[in-house]
Amino acid sequence: MTPTVSSRERWDVVVAGAGPAGLAVAAACATRGLRVALVAPHLRPWHQTYCLWADELDAAATALRGPAGGPALGVRYPETVVRTSSGQRSLGRGYARLHNDVVHGLLLDQFATGGGVSLPGTVTSVTEDAVGQQVTLTDGTALTAGLVVDARGGGPGSAQQRAWGERVTGDVGALVPSGSALFMDWVTLRDPATPQPPVFLYGMALDDGTTLLEATSLAARPPVPLPHLRDRLHRLMAEAGLRTAEDPERVAIPLDAAVRRGAGVPVGAAAGLVHPATGYSVATSLRTGSVVADAVQAGADAAAVRALVRGARRRATLGLFALGREVLLGLDEEQTDTFFSTFFTLPPSAWNAYLDTGSPPSAVAATMWRVARALPPAGRRSLATGVVRAARPRRAGGT
Ligand SMILES: Cc1cc2nc3c(=O)[nH]c(=O)nc-3n(C[C@H](O)[C@H](O)[C@H](O)COP(=O)(O)OP(=O)(O)OC[C@H]3O[C@@H](n4cnc5c(N)ncnc54)[C@H](O)[C@@H]3O)c2cc1C
Repeated sequence: MTPTVSSRERWDVVVAGAGPAGLAVAAACATRGLRVALVAPHLRPWHQTYCLWADELDAAATALRGPAGGPALGVRYPETVVRTSSGQRSLGRGYARLHNDVVHGLLLDQFATGGGVSLPGTVTSVTEDAVGQQVTLTDGTALTAGLVVDARGGGPGSAQQRAWGERVTGDVGALVPSGSALFMDWVTLRDPATPQPPVFLYGMALDDGTTLLEATSLAARPPVPLPHLRDRLHRLMAEAGLRTAEDPERVAIPLDAAVRRGAGVPVGAAAGLVHPATGYSVATSLRTGSVVADAVQAGADAAAVRALVRGARRRATLGLFALGREVLLGLDEEQTDTFFSTFFTLPPSAWNAYLDTGSPPSAVAATMWRVARALPPAGRRSLATGVVRAARPRRAGGT
């Protein structure tokens, strides 16, 4: 049943959007006793396969429920492997897949227990006046709050990560080593006779005994058409004698969507916090909920919260990642393979820094410098060409 909300009511926080970013903020605010309203078209569990590093899952579990027990927030893969033409490498860092139903249920439960009120609807505008910040819904409902958190996701962008995924049955042992997550395989989907866009194979075992395999284009502008990814995956499946178990997963992640401007404080994809070169954001979003809620509870205004979510340091880091994305966009299959062969020979602290939007810009710059130095001369030349191309002004894009 839709709750009736008086237009004179003033909320501490109104959150627009109930993806991982919005729900994490809404739950954390409610847990701290703030009066919070959540506006979203629906509150169904997220359907995407959300993955993150195992240590990020541990950090999220601690942030979301402290020392309390309960069902696992995700499944862990003790090893993560990368395959390039230089061979297969274990990264020495566990991978994890969220149990969306558990995480979503936990956040909704925290939200409801803390007295949060959810309103099914769609936000059309976020504005500000002397009284506070306001959201207006398509049905005309207006809500006033001390702070509006805009978690409506990102726009389409011009560069996207795309993937076509299938849940398969059959013997996948040669593709996804038992107990491991296959993070990137730049070899298996290649056809040396036919140059194609750089696409890697990604995969992991699922809870029902099937295996998720995805043909993934890391970053492309314009994006690689999904049928191309589907056909490459299906060719591999036919060769390996694998069968499809269920509906495919279609992935399209904007990598350069503009940050949502306006009166509210954007979080998650709306704040451009999707990693510009890898498309990851869920771990960051789950961490951000408590950061925003603590700040609001301590009396921070919108500008202060905005600076916490996307301050100068983080913008600098994102700028470096965006440069890295632009370089990747110019590499062909062989150059991409060489790039990742080199990237994963760096010490884990170096490549880990490059995969986290929370890393200091100095650490990211140091990693970029190390990759450049470690590449063979031809790889260094493509990198230099990419940097020059990336420095040219572009018409679309946000990060
Ligand atoms: C298939 C897929 C798989 C992905 N896998 C991973 C992964 O493994 N790991 C990872 O880190 N990232 C992954 N991503 C990328 C990224 O993390 C996700 O896109 C993530 O969902 C972003 O979270 P968010 O809460 O910021 O935005 P969203 O999840 O996009 O949530 C926005 C919410 O706002 C609602 N909304 C939109 N407009 C309005 C409005 N006007 N009013 C009210 N509500 C509105 C939407 O209904 C939606 O629920 C994946 C993306 C896709 C598409």
